[in-house]
Amino acid sequence: MPKENNKKAMRKMGQAMMATMPLQMKFQVMFRMLLAGNDEEKRKKIMGEVKQRRRFTHPRDQIEWYPTIDHLKCQGCRVCLEFCPKGVFAEDADKGVIVSRPYECVMLCSGCEIKCPHEAISFPNRKQFYRYVYYI
Ligand code: SF4
Ligand code: SF4
Repeated sequence: MPKENNKKAMRKMGQAMMATMPLQMKFQVMFRMLLAGNDEEKRKKIMGEVKQRRRFTHPRDQIEWYPTIDHLKCQGCRVCLEFCPKGVFAEDADKGVIVSRPYECVMLCSGCEIKCPHEAISFPNRKQFYRYVYYI
């Protein structure tokens, strides 16, 4: 199940990237992905190169892309806290797990949403954030 979740998260991120890329770049990436086939390392390398070329139209702290925790559903299991590589979550003595550093969240990533076993994490509508992304 966790492996499946990772794939799902990667797929979502890939879809977001494809949706924000200019047409020519999109075709180049698709062609390279086709050649890479099921080779995960090659696919990751291609994604990494795409990320290097990605830019944002506004400073990150002016783009409201980050997770929200529904504290009625959250069980404080810490899965999100341990999963997020950017340290977006923290533990608060009163509130339990909180989003402490929202603007560290990777633009268009939503990996923690899939990981949360209690469906307590949500994100805004991804498509509304595509316009903040461009590539050089
Ligand atoms: S993974 Fe979900 S339930 Fe667990 S602490 Fe995070 S938000 Fe709460
Ligand atoms: S979406 Fe990704 S970067 Fe953002 S908080 Fe969740 S795991 Fe961390």
